[in-house]
Amino acid sequence: MQIDNHLKTTKTGNAAQLLSKSFSPVVNRKLCYCFPMDLTWLGTAGFIIKGQQGIIAFDPFISRGTGAKSPFTAKSFADVEAMFIGHGHFDHTYDVPEIALNTEAKVFAPGLTGLMLKLRGLPSDRLVHASNEEMLLKKFNLRAYKSSHAKFDLPLVYSTLKRCKLGDCAKLCGLGFGYPKGMVQTYSFEIKNKKILFISSAGCTEKELLMYRNLEIDYLLAPLQGHTHIQEIVAKQTMIINPKVVIPHHHDDFYPPISQSISVEVFKDKLKHLGFKGNVLEIPLFHSCDI
Ligand SMILES: [Zn+2]
Repeated sequence: MQIDNHLKTTKTGNAAQLLSKSFSPVVNRKLCYCFPMDLTWLGTAGFIIKGQQGIIAFDPFISRGTGAKSPFTAKSFADVEAMFIGHGHFDHTYDVPEIALNTEAKVFAPGLTGLMLKLRGLPSDRLVHASNEEMLLKKFNLRAYKSSHAKFDLPLVYSTLKRCKLGDCAKLCGLGFGYPKGMVQTYSFEIKNKKILFISSAGCTEKELLMYRNLEIDYLLAPLQGHTHIQEIVAKQTMIINPKVVIPHHHDDFYPPISQSISVEVFKDKLKHLGFKGNVLEIPLFHSCDI
């Protein structure tokens, strides 16, 4: 595995962690044929994923309000042929219409979320219903699965409101009502015989988790956001899914003061405590990683 050619590998218990030594965002890198897969974490649940068969993206969110400025723009997605949307919340869909208009990418989104994207300017001929009953993109063996959203707990809601001023609270309400969650989807796909599972929110039911376990996942993209005890919740989910590698995402402070940073170290500790035998790959914000 390689992160931007600057790597340091450390071991903590059973979980090997890869840490980047330098910050080098890669915005328009060409397809790399040295590695079977190249992941770029855009912040929140956003990824650009390059395989030998093409380039796809998940839940791109690059506006970020007063958060760390993204080095990515709508033009960074020029070579992306398909975008897949996990659910309709603003931090998963806000930038999708503009990105789509700067590319020829198809946008795969579940029912209500697709409708909302069209209302916000996504051309109809670019939208594809992300059905979970058929193959969505054959060359990636890409399928959608029914999933569930994390349930915001009262302490989290209270601490969020405490951080926000009156104007922020009004904005939060607007974003909440203007960007309904809709149906939540998880996606699986394959690159060079490796199976990857993208989860957009960590509310999966036990039945859903067992279904994902049966897929025999190599790389799990796991969202750390949405609950006061999110690290423990996702660590338990990871144990059930049982991937070879878990890649945490969505733990950045993507839209302050509404958002906050989530500790990946706590997540690693929870995994260690539960006896996770796989690896944790932490991709630094806005970095790429060759696997
Ligand atoms: Zn959400």
